[in-house]
Amino acid sequence: MKEIILVKYGEIILKGGNRSRFENVLMDNIRNAVKNIDNIKMNIMQATIYVEPDDPEKIDLICERLALVFGIVSVTKAGVVEKDIEKIKEFAYEYCKNDLLPGKKFKVEAKRADKKFPYNSMEIGQEVGGYLDDVCEGITCDVHNPDVTVKVEIRDYAAYVYCVENKLIGQGGMPIGTGSKATLLLSGGIDSPVAGHMIAKRGVEIDAINFFSFPYTSERAKEKVVELASILARYTSKINLYIVPFTEIQLAIRDNCPEEHMTLIMRRFMMKISEKIAIKNKSIALITGESVGQVASQTLAALNVTNSVVDMPVLRPLIGMDKREIIDRSREIGAFETSILPYEDCCTVFTPKHPTTNPKLHTIIKSESKLDVDALIEKAIEGVEKITVYPNLI
Ligand code: ATP
Ligand code: MG
Repeated sequence: MKEIILVKYGEIILKGGNRSRFENVLMDNIRNAVKNIDNIKMNIMQATIYVEPDDPEKIDLICERLALVFGIVSVTKAGVVEKDIEKIKEFAYEYCKNDLLPGKKFKVEAKRADKKFPYNSMEIGQEVGGYLDDVCEGITCDVHNPDVTVKVEIRDYAAYVYCVENKLIGQGGMPIGTGSKATLLLSGGIDSPVAGHMIAKRGVEIDAINFFSFPYTSERAKEKVVELASILARYTSKINLYIVPFTEIQLAIRDNCPEEHMTLIMRRFMMKISEKIAIKNKSIALITGESVGQVASQTLAALNVTNSVVDMPVLRPLIGMDKREIIDRSREIGAFETSILPYEDCCTVFTPKHPTTNPKLHTIIKSESKLDVDALIEKAIEGVEKITVYPNLI
C-alpha cells in the first residue's frame, strides 16, 4: 500500500499572479523542515502539495513536523489507490478499518476534482458508504454527526482516501521568507517568544537579541533564552541570536540617573542598540512583547518615550492582549514551561521601587544626558556574541 501526505495551504491561494513564488518558498521550507528525517518527493496540484517520503516508516514524524511549518493549514496522511470504484471501496475498508470500529457513526465524503471519473461525488459517497456499511460490523451511517468521516478525493493521477479526524491542523499564516526580516527583543519572559511567533507566522524571518547582565544574570538565564530561541526555531528552522553585554550600561544608569527613570532609560538603550544590530543584519523592523499598561514601562506615555529613540517600525503584536491570552498562546507554541523557569532577566536585576508611569520625554532626555550614550552603545555592540540556534527537535 502506498501512502502519501496531502498538505493544504491557506492564504497563499489568494495571491493571484505572485502565487507560484509563495508556493515555491513553501516547498523549500517543507524540504528544509524534514531534511534531517528523510528525502521526500513533492508535487503541487490543485492547491495541494503531495509529499511522498522515501521511507514509509517516517511518514508520521514528517506529518508532525509539517504541522509546524507556517503557511500550511492542514496535514493529512492519505492512502493512494487506482481510480477504479471497486478498488476504491476495498481500499477504503482496508485503510480505515481501524477507525471504523463497532458502535461508530460514519459518513463518506467524496470530492471529484477529475470530472472524467464516471461517478459523481454523491454516487461515490453512496457506493463507498454502502460497501463500508456492509463489511464493517456494528457501524451506522450518520451524515450529520459522524465520529468518522472517510474522505475520498478523485484527483488527476489517483484517488486518495483518509479519515478526516486524523488530519493535523497546521499553523496557518504565510511561509517564512516571503516577508523580509525583523529582529525580536527576546527576554526570558512569557511575552516576547509569543510576539516573535506571531510575526514569524506572517512569513517574516526572525533574528533575536538578548540583553545580558553578567554576573547579575546567570549562565542559566542565558541558557533559558537560547532554549526559548530554539523553541521558536521549531517554526522558523533556525534563529540567529545576538547576546548583548548590558552590565556596564545598567551600572552607568544606576550610578548617574534618577532611580525612577532607570527602567525607561535602560529600555531606550535596548531599542537603540537593537536598531543598530538590526540594520547591520538587514532587518527592517523590531519586535517586542509589550502590551499596553502591563507594567510601568508599558503605559502609552512610556512606550512613546522608548519608541522615540528609533526610526525603524516597532512591531508589538501583543499590544492589545491580556496576560491570560498571552499565556494561552505561550502554552500553544510550547514555550510556557521554559518561560516560567525562575532565572532572572536583566530588567529585574535593577528595578526602581517607584518607576515613572507618566514620563515626559524631555525629563527623561535630561536624566539621560549624564551618560555618554554613544560610547556606551558602541562598546556594547563590540561585545556582541552571535549564537546560531537550531530547533530543539530530533
Ligand atoms: P517578557 O515576558 O517578554 O519578558 P515583560 O512583560 O517582562 O515581557 P518587560 O520586561 O518590560 O516586559 O519587557 C518588554 C519587552 O522588552 C519584552 O517583551 C522584550 O521584547 C523586551 N525585553 C525585555 N527585557 C529584555 C532582554 N533582557 N533582552 C531582550 N529584550 C528584552
Ligand atoms: Mg521581561
